[in-house]
Amino acid sequence: MASSAETPIQTPNIVDIEQQYVLQNYARYPLVIESGKGCCVYDDKGRRYLDFISGIGVNALGHAHPRIVKVVREQVGKLVHCSNLYYHPYQGPLAARLAERSGLQRTFFCNSGTEAMEGALKMARAFGRKQDPAKYEIVSLDNSFHGRTLGALSVTGQAKYRGDFEPLLPGVRFVPVNDMAALEQAVSERTAAVVLEPILGEGGIVGLTREFSERAADLAQRHNALLIFDEIQCGLGRTGAYFAFQLWHQDREHGSKIMPDVLVTAKPLGCGFPIGAIVANERAAAAIGAGMHGSTFGGGALVCRVALEFLDLLPDLLPAIRENGRYFRRRLQALVDKYEFVRQVRGEGLMVGLDLAIPGKPFVLEAMEKGFLINCTHDTVLRFLPPYIIEQKDISRLVDALDAMFAHVQSPPAGGAA
Ligand SMILES: *Cc1c(COP(=O)(O)O)cnc(C)c1O
Repeated sequence: MASSAETPIQTPNIVDIEQQYVLQNYARYPLVIESGKGCCVYDDKGRRYLDFISGIGVNALGHAHPRIVKVVREQVGKLVHCSNLYYHPYQGPLAARLAERSGLQRTFFCNSGTEAMEGALKMARAFGRKQDPAKYEIVSLDNSFHGRTLGALSVTGQAKYRGDFEPLLPGVRFVPVNDMAALEQAVSERTAAVVLEPILGEGGIVGLTREFSERAADLAQRHNALLIFDEIQCGLGRTGAYFAFQLWHQDREHGSKIMPDVLVTAKPLGCGFPIGAIVANERAAAAIGAGMHGSTFGGGALVCRVALEFLDLLPDLLPAIRENGRYFRRRLQALVDKYEFVRQVRGEGLMVGLDLAIPGKPFVLEAMEKGFLINCTHDTVLRFLPPYIIEQKDISRLVDALDAMFAHVQSPPAGGAA
């Protein structure tokens, strides 16, 4: 056809076409990622980047892990999805594995973190309502993040995410992190659930104290409310324990036995395939009967097979996560000691935050130019969530790069990177 010969088909620029046709709800970095292998990703010009964010804590086994590639290839030609009208061979075994690792009993599968939190809130509502229709309040934390759907957003303690969508769910009370007195004030006979992130991720890598969590568990029990742990970011090996709450069990001096009634997980479970899971004890799970909740896609054959493979690989990775995490934090501590504007290292395992006295975002861009993907949360906290397979030499390269970047910053707090 003459007209197409005259106007050659143009390959539109990836950034331009996104900006023209995709909802503009993300402020993306100017980087087009085309492939990944291990702890590296490659852009459209073939440049390599060390990945210290893992798709926000999702790519726990890095990119193109051979075992994951193998099971995906096998399963995709066999069965991807059959709905929850029927059984398939992988959902039950995956739930059994999650029960074994968590100490809880029953799992509901969905497709994302926020959806898991949403389901957990429905569970709490139904649980409370069986006792008393007025028992629907949820106690949550300032600076927490639980997701973007209306229910999960209602228990998210950050005005910047909530503001445009109010009014949200009624009966949500927020208390400051680790504030025992405020917690005691907030929990009452009207409380259906207390929702906690054992380590706040989006909120700047801030850990709850064992004492605070134990008090929350006591209060929840005393008022017959559910204790819900959101381990979407900190769970499934990220901290070097299967679940972050189990770190409190390992505290030798004060061996805590704290157990949630409900555990919400997602991010790393599907190695990049969407999956979320609500893992509950029998008491909480009994609140949801047949027909009360569901998901068309939830717990499909392909994603459950991948998640089973991930959980098979995880035990062998935990010691290295702990050791490399200690090494990472020790190296970052040297930057705290060296630079006045570098305030504090926080985190457990490979969930690491570096709190600055100045905005962190300029460093994210500078690191990208140097070939490192890092992230900034809560304005001033550089957040690192590398794949669990990261090695010390790569951690060392990143810390050296940060050191060089920080060296260019003039007298703090000047208000940004030099
Ligand atoms: C990411 C995250 C969520 C939301 O998960 P999505 O999969 O993005 O919906 C909820 N809670 C915590 C702690 C998270 O880190």
